[in-house]
Amino acid sequence: MIVVMKEGASQSEIDRVMELLQSKGLGAHLSVGVETTVIGVIGPKEKVHELGIETLPGVEKLVTVSYPFKLASRPFHPDDTRIEIRGHVVGGPEPTLIAGPCSVETREGLLEIARAIKRSGAHMLRGGAFKPRSSPYSFQGLGEEGLKYLADAREETGLAIVSEVMEPGLVPLVAEYVDVLQIGARNMQNFPLLKAVGRTGKPVLLKRGFSNTIEEWLMSAEYIMAEGNPNVILCERGIRTFETYTRNTLDLNAVPVVKHLSHLPILVDPSHGVGHARYVTDMARAGIAAGAHGVIVEVHKDPSQAWSDGNQTITLEEFDQLARQVRAIHQVMKTFEPAASLV
Ligand code: PEP
Ligand code: MN
Repeated sequence: MIVVMKEGASQSEIDRVMELLQSKGLGAHLSVGVETTVIGVIGPKEKVHELGIETLPGVEKLVTVSYPFKLASRPFHPDDTRIEIRGHVVGGPEPTLIAGPCSVETREGLLEIARAIKRSGAHMLRGGAFKPRSSPYSFQGLGEEGLKYLADAREETGLAIVSEVMEPGLVPLVAEYVDVLQIGARNMQNFPLLKAVGRTGKPVLLKRGFSNTIEEWLMSAEYIMAEGNPNVILCERGIRTFETYTRNTLDLNAVPVVKHLSHLPILVDPSHGVGHARYVTDMARAGIAAGAHGVIVEVHKDPSQAWSDGNQTITLEEFDQLARQVRAIHQVMKTFEPAASLV
């Protein structure tokens, strides 16, 4: 349920509601928006009703959230969530650009990619050190060594780093190195893992599972947030369909739907979404035009030599073009914002 405060409600009126809820053992999440202040309540509906909150000074109304996800829902937090990571705001005025190889390979190779994407305006460097591979015989990632290379690249370029964590036991290690913990599509419903990244409080890039509904995806975000971590960034990376000319189908429907249902920022990953380098830039543009807050793409100096996902990896020069185009489309999108308000 949500307590909507009156416009101009005083701090003491807000505190009173918060204290009452907390004293009854109910979860109370305050969201001070530009126009409205709301308090999201977690707990049994009957218990909330018993308190007579509607009669307290400063309270406008009490409303029920009909979604199964609460903390992740738009009504709980009417304004867009913004997450600051090393000076860049995800969900803020500039589109987020994340790029890097599928897997961390050599130290020099990674540094070269990092320098180039930085020059092109990227904010973060991606790269898997622990890789979820369909075959146990494929390269599984460099492990901690790869995380060290990522940290070196951050040190030199100032780029934030994003890397996947696949098991709860490795969360403390990966969290020690990265700025953003990536939860891969295959682990979107690994609930112990979601809880473990939730406990770190670090930003989490939560990819959508390729066979999961938007509701299941938002419930996974809820798992992370229920541990007290509000810093969730959603990432649409393509779902499985009957189509075979592309690796997956980048579900751009998800972008406006998520922005309607949730306040969390959403990125698109056209690399995994289409699976072929030649379509990546087109779909990055399309993702931004659909309203995504940014893109994450796989880049390599020589994609034909990449240790994983070479087919869908673009070159450094192609990334430079992509970054320009994404910024241009985003600029146009800003001019539409008031008319396209989804809330
Ligand atoms: C990746 O980012 O390299 C990756 C494995 O992504 P996904 O989990 O979306 O397949
Ligand atoms: Mn990949």
